Amino acid sequence: MKIFGCIFCQIAAREKPADILYEDELCLVLRDINPRAPVHLLVIPKKHIVSLNDSQEEDRLLLGHMLNVVGRMAKEQHIDGTGYRTVINTNAEAGQTIFHLHIHILGGRILRWPPG
Ligand code: AMP
Ligand code: ZN
Repeated sequence: MKIFGCIFCQIAAREKPADILYEDELCLVLRDINPRAPVHLLVIPKKHIVSLNDSQEEDRLLLGHMLNVVGRMAKEQHIDGTGYRTVINTNAEAGQTIFHLHIHILGGRILRWPPG
């Protein structure tokens, strides 16, 4: 389950520090270390999934749960009313740098469309 050298697996295992705002049996939410918006959180599954290219049918409950957690965190951070964006980057041209699936939550400022 845990992949050696994966920073998000290490954070989930509490082997590396992170600003963790929420945790349950399936996922955790932490503050992005290099925030691109006043609110910039990452929802991370405890299971190591490389990217959406690698998610399986068996992951559907996990992925749905993570989206529910997004909504819960948006309310907690008071960006549900003003608005926020959820982003999952996949592979090089989308800018994925950490190959353990994660959902970005960005809010607290106006977000342009389409993203660059
Ligand atoms: P991506 O580029 O979509 O793969 O997103 C990876 C994100 O993880 C980037 O926004 C990084 O700033 C963030 N990040 C990298 N290392 C850490 C860390 N140790 N704690 C929190 N966020 C991190
Ligand atoms: Zn991992």
